[in-house]
Amino acid sequence: MKTIAVPTYGILELENVVLDLNGTLTASGDLIPGVLDCLQTLRAQGLKIYILSGDTRGTLAQTFEGFQGIKAIATKTAQEKKAFVESIGPEHTVCVGNGNIDVEMFKVARLSFCTIQAEGATTNAVLHADIVVTHIKHAFEILLDPDKLIATLRA
Ligand SMILES: [Mg+2]
Repeated sequence: MKTIAVPTYGILELENVVLDLNGTLTASGDLIPGVLDCLQTLRAQGLKIYILSGDTRGTLAQTFEGFQGIKAIATKTAQEKKAFVESIGPEHTVCVGNGNIDVEMFKVARLSFCTIQAEGATTNAVLHADIVVTHIKHAFEILLDPDKLIATLRA
């Protein structure tokens, strides 16, 4: 559990990080360099890591084989992603994604990041995220540095 008190926004008690795969952690199907190290750092801070993907490229299982503590789960629809987040406790979950399939989980999660980077983000995903970043590395930097999160979220 990572607890961050954000003035005017509330107390974040985060236990789970749920990430979309394609366009969020990958570019053209390949993992973005540095992503796995950042996930391990978040894990070392006590957060549970879940990767959800429609598995469009059929690479989900093989990509995360052997990475301890990272759970990869095939979810085919926005409703399945939302249902997964609801099953682990949305009030303790931060979601990261870029597409329309991520919008429903953004709506129920305590905190959500939309990342644009190389494959773009949908306007609907942008509108339903709490924070929009241009690259996944910036989402990780914000999550790892409470001062950045507070500076962005406080009113
Ligand atoms: Mg995506």
